[in-house]
Parts: sequence; structure tokens; C-alpha cells
Amino acid sequence: MARRKYIAGNWKMHKTVGEAVALAKELVESLAGCPHKLMIAPPFTALSAVASVVKGTPILLGAQNMASVEQGAHTGEVSVLMLKDIGVRSVILGHSERRIIYGEKDGLINEKVKLALKHGLEVVLCVGETLEEREKGKAEEVVTTQVTQCLQGVGEGDLPMITIAYEPVWAIGTGKNATPQDADAIHKVIRKVLDTLYRPGTGETVTIQYGGSVKPENARELLTMPNIDGALVGGASLKKETFVPIAWFDR
Ligand code: PEP
Repeated sequence: MARRKYIAGNWKMHKTVGEAVALAKELVESLAGCPHKLMIAPPFTALSAVASVVKGTPILLGAQNMASVEQGAHTGEVSVLMLKDIGVRSVILGHSERRIIYGEKDGLINEKVKLALKHGLEVVLCVGETLEEREKGKAEEVVTTQVTQCLQGVGEGDLPMITIAYEPVWAIGTGKNATPQDADAIHKVIRKVLDTLYRPGTGETVTIQYGGSVKPENARELLTMPNIDGALVGGASLKKETFVPIAWFDR
């Protein structure tokens, strides 16, 4: 079965509640009838308000992170139970900014992945190599390790709830996107890894997004590659003028 294209916007640490609601309203209007799966991930403070805007529309509400445990003495953390309570359906985990700035390792990300799945949240699991790793020829090895460790203990039955986002760190927020061919090649590697972790053929069933300086100008050539099933968009997701043409890349 053909995999459906999936376009997601990661708003990172941008937008007040008012700004987030305004953008969400514009997106609901402009993306009505878009054939692709859509998700937006506003900051925590705006999730509740944006939930009311996207409720009953095809735009899924996502969070950008969550704690690895359900509740307790974890100052500053946000629980999966709280996210579910306000209508969040998906969570981005293992983003390179979480890995690099906040020191999140594959083991912790794996705990979060399993907890999200336990509570029925979809997961966008981010993986990707740094520039140094790529220059040393280690991109495939790094991504293979991340996928393997982050999915440890995740059953095949849960894979429809998981999207993998290949986001080379050197391409995030830098304006330098991976070439469509380079990105496609890594996506193919990820499918092979899934074939070894699960049953042969499993890789073909999993949605794999590309992320890293996706913009209206390059969306079409990236998103029409055979192994690229969508995009996780950062900077260009902050404005209707740039996110909408990406979501409608094939119109
Ligand atoms: C991201 O944050 O996931 C991302 C891909 O950012 P940008 O599109 O700005 O490179």
C-alpha cells in the first residue's frame, strides 16, 4: 500500500498563545482539503488554545517533547497524561535540539517512545547525524544506532503509530538541505534497518519524513523522492506563506 505523505510543523520555542492561535486558524482555512496527513507542534503554553482551533479538522495536534515518566517530582517536565488531557495526538521525540542542547540520549528517548505508545500517542522519532559524523563517513552507522536503540522493545504492532524523521543536524535551521538523493539514500538505509529489527518488508510500511531546511522552493523535489514520505518543517512552519505551499507541494 502506498504510504501517505505526512507534513508536520515544529514551531519550536516560538509564538505566544495569541500568535499561535492566529497561525493555527490560518492553517485550518488554507489547508482544508489538503490530501496529506498534517500535524503542527506549537510550544506547550499554546497547546490548549490551539487544540480548540484544530479540533475536528484534519490537522493533528503535536507536542515537541514530553517526560519519560507519567508523573511525579519532575520539576519543569510535562507528562504524557497532561498532553492527552488537552487533545494532543502526537509527540516529537529525540529532536536533535533535545539531544544536543539538553543531552538526551537514545536510552531516554526510547523510554519516552514506549511511554507515548503506551498511552496511544503517535510518535515522530527524530534521528540524524552531525556534520562531523557525516564528514567521517559515519552517517549510516549513526542513524542505524539511533533507530535501533530508540525502538528497543517497541513491537511491530506499534509501528503504525511511529513516524521516523531523518533530520541531518547540519541541515537544521542552516538553510543547507540534504540533496534529495542523499536524503533518499539514508531513508533507504532506515528501511533496511527496520527490516532487520522486524520482519523483512517492514521498512516499506513505515513513514519516514525528511527534516532540515525544507522550504517551498525545495519541497517538491524532496517530497517526490521514492523513500521520502513527508517533511518535518521547522523555520518554514512559522508562517502560513511558507508552510502552506510545502503542505500543498504537489498541487
Ligand atoms: C526541525 O526543527 O525539525 C527542522 C527541520 O528545522 P528547519 O526546517 O528550520 O531546518
